[in-house]
Amino acid sequence: MLDKKELKEIANMEGKDGYFVSLYLNVDPMFNPRGNYMVHFKNMMKNAAESINKAVYKEVKDDLEKVENYVTSNKRLFKKGLVIISSSTNSFWKEYNLSVPVKNELIVDKTPYAKPLMDILDNYQRYAVLLVDKESARIFVVHLGEIVEYGEVQTPDVPGKHKKGGWFSLSQNRYERHIDFHVAIHLKDVVEKLDSFLSGEYIGRLIIGGSDEALTAVKGMLHKTVIDKVIDTVKIEMFAKPDEIIKKVQPVVLKYEKQKEEEEVDFLIERAMKNENAVIGLENVLNALQKQRVMKLFFVKDHKASGYICNSCGLLTEQKIDSCSYCSGEIEVVDYMIDLAAKKAAQQGALIEVVTESKKLFDAGAIGAFLRF
Ligand SMILES: [Zn+2]
Repeated sequence: MLDKKELKEIANMEGKDGYFVSLYLNVDPMFNPRGNYMVHFKNMMKNAAESINKAVYKEVKDDLEKVENYVTSNKRLFKKGLVIISSSTNSFWKEYNLSVPVKNELIVDKTPYAKPLMDILDNYQRYAVLLVDKESARIFVVHLGEIVEYGEVQTPDVPGKHKKGGWFSLSQNRYERHIDFHVAIHLKDVVEKLDSFLSGEYIGRLIIGGSDEALTAVKGMLHKTVIDKVIDTVKIEMFAKPDEIIKKVQPVVLKYEKQKEEEEVDFLIERAMKNENAVIGLENVLNALQKQRVMKLFFVKDHKASGYICNSCGLLTEQKIDSCSYCSGEIEVVDYMIDLAAKKAAQQGALIEVVTESKKLFDAGAIGAFLRF
């Protein structure tokens, strides 16, 4: 999983004694119907061999071979984006199999190329999950469909203060007003650790899990800034395995993201209406792609549109033309314009949001984009 601290360390590394090879490969099946990312990969390797200074190439030959071995023998691990950073002279190797596509790039430099990874961290929300009971707490991070356990909070018991019975069953008896001393200390501990964890990791959203009583008590103790980050609570067993936890948490995340997506589509349409760095409709999007202005592309899933493509420069247009207006190249009719537009946007490093269902976006032309400038 991508980790802010780790990425910062990578970004700050300098190959005093050598070079880094950074590979970004779009392996998304949507863009590579017949696994043709291998063609792009081989082209990038060939370009590297031809364009890099001979002495440097000799130094990174090992790394390029290692990268090639990984790409050819680990296809079953691929999701949508593959990133590898390798430096044999610095004994460094890192691979990321991401569930978002990346722009194809192969970079050889004195420093690792981590900027696109940073951008993914900033653009795709990470969620913290807090599981809590009377003696312990566990903190997880969920990002792009993966879950990682980050830490545990155990507060040592205070002798002589231990009470029998359930943790939050106190309100049913005469101890009603006395929250168990040890539990109170533990919760305070949890709340403090959570606070510092959330700010240190720049995590914007939180899901809390535990028994009903635990959830109520913990929510009562959280600071306002943390409460604002809570998107939902879920009943989860304290010692649940990570894959059970993600199963319970994923519907909450999806519901939240769907809502965010609707808000974004509303904003997109509003901005496009005002002509403020946003466009809707296929032809407008195609024009923006031609000018390399697309920052984030939205389109309705499985939407089909026909149009024209220039066979020599790749110009896309809805307008019927006899020859390309840019290069006079030959024009071909195609019926999968949305796919071509998405592919072009990915090549330009734009973010892509496939909207599952949106009458608003559909009515606005089924496609739109936020622009860079
Ligand atoms: Zn052309």
